[in-house]
Amino acid sequence: MTKKIQRFLAEQRPATPCLVVDLDIVADAYRKLRAAVPTAGIYYAIKANPAPEILRLLARLGSSFDTASVNEIDMVLAAGGSAERISYGNTIKKKRDIAAAHARGVKLFAFDSGAELDKLAEAAPGAKVFCRILTSGVGADWPLSRKFGCEIEMARDLLVEAAARGVVPHGVSFHVGSQQKDPQAWDDAIAQAAWIFQECEARGVKLSMLNIGGGFPARYRRDMPAMASYGEAIHESLSRHFGNNIPEIIVEPGRQMVGDAGIIQTEVVLISRKGRNDPRRWVYLDIGKFGGLAETMDEAIQYPISTPRKGKLERVILAGPTCDSADVLYEKADYRMPIDLQVGDKLEIRSTGAYTTTYASVAFNGFEPIKTYCV
Ligand SMILES: *Cc1c(COP(=O)(O)O)cnc(C)c1O
Repeated sequence: MTKKIQRFLAEQRPATPCLVVDLDIVADAYRKLRAAVPTAGIYYAIKANPAPEILRLLARLGSSFDTASVNEIDMVLAAGGSAERISYGNTIKKKRDIAAAHARGVKLFAFDSGAELDKLAEAAPGAKVFCRILTSGVGADWPLSRKFGCEIEMARDLLVEAAARGVVPHGVSFHVGSQQKDPQAWDDAIAQAAWIFQECEARGVKLSMLNIGGGFPARYRRDMPAMASYGEAIHESLSRHFGNNIPEIIVEPGRQMVGDAGIIQTEVVLISRKGRNDPRRWVYLDIGKFGGLAETMDEAIQYPISTPRKGKLERVILAGPTCDSADVLYEKADYRMPIDLQVGDKLEIRSTGAYTTTYASVAFNGFEPIKTYCV
């Protein structure tokens, strides 16, 4: 935990559960990414954490933004980001939302199907469009495969078609899956993108942008390769597949930018066992799957958790406070907590800056959505 967060929690004693984000860590993550991919356009995927303080900071540092709705676009504009620095990266948009984005000056749009290209041609004439391709998601702890993207032959055909439809066929995008553990994971998709660039050029359509998505990791319970290793692997792959004709590159970091910057403070509500001789201790917290920890689904993302006690460690099952039996955080994963842990103790769930506040339900069981404090 950073000194700033520690001081804030000690002095302000906010009600739990709450998320505290250290903006210095966000700025640090931006600089690390900047250094790892020095020539790429950085489009922060704001769904990871759209707190206005974070958006203002990143706008000031020169970041652009990847958005998925008109509301997100308005949040970026309100934070001082300009429309020219916004990408509408969702491949599933209502036509009226495309028109609303276009009216606000947004010029860059994603698609992965003919039907979506139809909408873009009608509602955003003259816009730059890029086609998202399928990826396997192998190596990612939170894969984004199947639902998004199309096969490369289809991408080629749609991009060629785009030129005749009054929009600008700008390039190709993909996402290798979130919390991607393997820096080599970009290589396959970069090779496929290079093929599309060649095929389009052979048909008289010159593409100019490659959007290599997000996927850069935060640090949870396991160590991850440094950001620089990802930068090197990606640069090497781009050189191999594009030679001297590397296009304009865009990255869309979400988790990497804000994940490590946040800590959720939570309170132990109940510690119990299911029988006199049951060896398994259940620890119920005041936050669960519906309060912001949705990424514990299938125990995919395993947050580091610290307690104030020093006793001998014993296996626990961690669960949230709601009346839904799906609201169990970790049962299979090996989480241990001190035997002297008490009801009322405050725990720190670390690296929770990404995909927490936006994943909280509005008021399931009457529990308020989690509050964010930026320090
Ligand atoms: C969510 C998302 C991102 C961010 O992904 P991370 O794994 O958090 O970096 C980037 N691009 C698109 C299109 C997304 O949907």
